[in-house]
Amino acid sequence: MLRWIFAIFIVILLVVAYFLYPWVRTRVGRMDRLRRWMNNPSTHADWAIKAGERCGEAPFSLPTSGYVGFVWGDSFRPGHQHQGMDVFGGDAPGKTPVVAAYPGYLTRLPDWKSTLIIRIPSDPLNPESQIWTYYTHMADKNGGSYISPEFPAGASEIYVAEGTFLGYQGDFSGDPDNPVGVHLHFSIVKDDGQGSFRNELEINNTLDLSPYLGLSLNASRNQDGVVICPPQVNDQ
Ligand SMILES: [Zn+2]
Repeated sequence: MLRWIFAIFIVILLVVAYFLYPWVRTRVGRMDRLRRWMNNPSTHADWAIKAGERCGEAPFSLPTSGYVGFVWGDSFRPGHQHQGMDVFGGDAPGKTPVVAAYPGYLTRLPDWKSTLIIRIPSDPLNPESQIWTYYTHMADKNGGSYISPEFPAGASEIYVAEGTFLGYQGDFSGDPDNPVGVHLHFSIVKDDGQGSFRNELEINNTLDLSPYLGLSLNASRNQDGVVICPPQVNDQ
């Protein structure tokens, strides 16, 4: 009898540990370095990526500048997994530019204050598929948009070349009393098969960004390392 109770206890412990692990890993691993970056970005310039740069042979260029605070698969609360990358510019809202990582057709839904989505008809890594790149937090805490006036609310299917200026990083969270740290959230969203995009909030509807950007952006492989372009062989 005691042996059974012990066995059940161990199983419950394993389930809880499995469930909590990504959350604990994010809290202890990444939060501390992000805090140090936010306190003094200029002393940690080597932790930053740069908008418009390309890491090696990656199909996408980098959509903004700053420190990659969170990656795909990080967890901010038990049971939740982050669907994209968060890049913290280290500057005030409305200062750090955001550019298109890859060409495509831009849409901004009528009620989107801080968000754009760009349709890519042919995924460079899987040419048979259509994918979508999603850019958000481009507004101030009150919802004042930092998106380029070229893309007003309701804009639909506007062609943008790679590197096109889209807007600036902001701190919009939907709650003016509780803004996020100034950053860009960038993700790749799967197509729904009907010509539209799936719900971006669910990690299963998104793709691992790593092979698209040439960065280590998968939380299960990069526990807490700084995310920068790997050095190129011909740099030496
Ligand atoms: Zn995010």
